[in-house]
Amino acid sequence: MKFTEPKIYLIGETVIKKDELSLYLNDVGASEWSTDSYSDMEAIAEVMGRLCYRSWKPGLNPNITKVREGNDKYLGHILEVGHGSVLEHGMFNFILANVSRVFTHELVRHRVGVAISQESLRFVRLTALKFWMPSCFKSHSKSERIKQLVVETIEYLERRQTELSELLDLDNLKKFDEKKELTSAMRRLAPIGLATTIGWSVNARTLRHVIEMRTAPGTEEEIRLVFGKIAEKVKARYPNLFQDYEVEMVGGLPWYKTKNKKV
Ligand SMILES: Cc1cc2nc3c(=O)[nH]c(=O)nc-3n(C[C@H](O)[C@H](O)[C@H](O)COP(=O)(O)OP(=O)(O)OC[C@H]3O[C@@H](n4cnc5c(N)ncnc54)[C@H](O)[C@@H]3O)c2cc1C
Repeated sequence: MKFTEPKIYLIGETVIKKDELSLYLNDVGASEWSTDSYSDMEAIAEVMGRLCYRSWKPGLNPNITKVREGNDKYLGHILEVGHGSVLEHGMFNFILANVSRVFTHELVRHRVGVAISQESLRFVRLTALKFWMPSCFKSHSKSERIKQLVVETIEYLERRQTELSELLDLDNLKKFDEKKELTSAMRRLAPIGLATTIGWSVNARTLRHVIEMRTAPGTEEEIRLVFGKIAEKVKARYPNLFQDYEVEMVGGLPWYKTKNKKV
């Protein structure tokens, strides 16, 4: 067995095709428009928002005599008035590794604006089990004994996996379907704390919702830890999208709160 820590990888994000956007801007008489956003994720929200009112510049829509200049101000206004649907266009793609099935069970409850691909324990055979140790175990006055029990339990379950795969002669089975069926049956003996990997894509509106919900005190430690890391990363990379966040440390972990409850 191996003790492990959750790791997050931001492997993708929405990118604007600048040539196509220029063609569109040209067609609507706004060819000189450009954005000072830090990223395309922020730019796409601005573009989709501005096209609603043709607010690329004053006069394009006779009803508009003044436009908000700058991506930070534009998105700041979107967040304030709760025009959250424009934040749904841009997607982030994450790989969350070494996260337990406790974590993934909670993550998948967030259904809106996400795509999920989880490591399949129906196909992937369990060999060395990885485990993240919660801090209440680590800091407990009986932490030595707790650690010993954890190690013994995980190693016991690990050995059972190896013994079963030998007993069932999994290595020499020719039919893949048979192997899959047995591997799937064997996962029932795995602990829920088993560290695994999940691919999670999410739009910016949902990510804001989930960060706020899952970094709040009262939430389970592992999901707070992971969403604290995600929030830190996205706030640094997309400052305008997350400009309204305030951070408060509670129980050693950050709680990311927004002033704009409407989005
Ligand atoms: C501290 C904590 C403890 C929890 N404890 C439990 C528990 O004991 N048992 C349990 O089962 N769950 C529990 N949950 C999970 C919780 O009930 C939600 O299922 C989960 O947090 C998903 O959040 P969400 O409803 O905002 O859904 P999301 O899918 O993230 O949806 C985002 C928003 O979209 C809207 N929305 C989504 N789906 C619909 C819909 N079908 N109809 C209308 N509007 C919709 C809602 O406004 C929702 O807030 C807990 C969550 C937390 C944070």
